Amino acid sequence: MEKRRTVPVKLDADSADAALLQDTIDEFLWAANYVTRHAFEGEYITTSKTRLHDETYEDVRGETNLHSNHVQAARNKAAEACKSVVEKWKQGKKASMPHFTSSHLVYDHRTATFHEEYVTLATTDDRIEADYVLPDEDRDTPHSEYLFSDEYETTGAELHYRDGSWMLHIHCKTDVESDTSVQVTAENGTVLGVDLGVDNLAVTSTGTFWVGDEFDHWRREYEKRRGDLQEHGTRWAHKNIQSVGRKEEGRFKQTLHRISNDLVSEARKHGCSVIAFEELTDIRERTGASWGHKWAFDRLYEYVEYKAAEYGIDVTQIDPENTSRRCSECGFTHPDNRDSEGFECLKCSYENHADYNAAKNIGLRYLRRNQTGDGGGAPVGVRLNSGTLNVNGEYEPPAEDSARTGVHAENSRL
Ligand SMILES: [Zn+2]
Repeated sequence: MEKRRTVPVKLDADSADAALLQDTIDEFLWAANYVTRHAFEGEYITTSKTRLHDETYEDVRGETNLHSNHVQAARNKAAEACKSVVEKWKQGKKASMPHFTSSHLVYDHRTATFHEEYVTLATTDDRIEADYVLPDEDRDTPHSEYLFSDEYETTGAELHYRDGSWMLHIHCKTDVESDTSVQVTAENGTVLGVDLGVDNLAVTSTGTFWVGDEFDHWRREYEKRRGDLQEHGTRWAHKNIQSVGRKEEGRFKQTLHRISNDLVSEARKHGCSVIAFEELTDIRERTGASWGHKWAFDRLYEYVEYKAAEYGIDVTQIDPENTSRRCSECGFTHPDNRDSEGFECLKCSYENHADYNAAKNIGLRYLRRNQTGDGGGAPVGVRLNSGTLNVNGEYEPPAEDSARTGVHAENSRL
């Protein structure tokens, strides 16, 4: 199994080197935007990397002084962004042509060489050499733990320019043997964290998403019709509200039953003894959910609770404070960690879907709350895709940390 980490390292670049890095970033962004525009030409969006390569590589080489691997990295960036637009369209969401503006540049082993105290980086001109600016002798920094560890190898990096500093986010990985303790952990009891929301109705700490699009459509219709009828205010209108309500409620409930079945299966599949939700009181204030959502969350909780009980799985609610702002990897809590759907920790650079990060935090919060309790049979980990998170937020054993492995779209019934 592979364990991956990203270590942010500040670089010491003099003004001449800084100018070259800026130049390289500018050309990289230009290349990514050029490929994106090309992908959007024609009747269909081109998302194939091979095709985009064939159709743009020579042009980009001709127009820039980028290293060939930077040209490829820019093309990959463009291809992935275009793919996610197509994905959103498929889900009926709005998305426009991507445009890259944030100062960043992707490095791999052909364009960067990582040394003990410095890195050499390809630019639009010669390679530059930049020293790492490291914290003093701190034993517990990610630098000593991963970057300078013999067990980890560097796989690449992203260069960022932020608040006047050049930062290199270095990706490291190591192979760890999968040990049997994971099964033991699962049998002793683990918790499945569940985040509820508007865009994604539910997201689990195992990385499964139940999107809210379809539900949202029904809910809006329901709320609108209810509103229209209420305006009339007659006895006839009141009766109609009730009948519209019953009909729509039936459809909602069907969807929610399906999701609740899926959630319980997810918990069983991963050997969880507890399913933890965030507290449902005040959820509207926190998430901007409508009363329709609140109604749905309450039903969903109720269904999961009684279905899980059949399998001896407990269902509980935990204090949701900061679960969306806290980094599930390092614990750093800041409102700027989250940018709508995206979560990127300002401290350790952990990146993932914001709801998935929140689901992991909900599981962790449950663990911490129960750590000081009687202890008997208390769960020992948060269930992830594979492996668990322990109470310190560490993976045991680690696995590919990808949030999008199982998307359960509720689109099948229109
Ligand atoms: Zn972090």
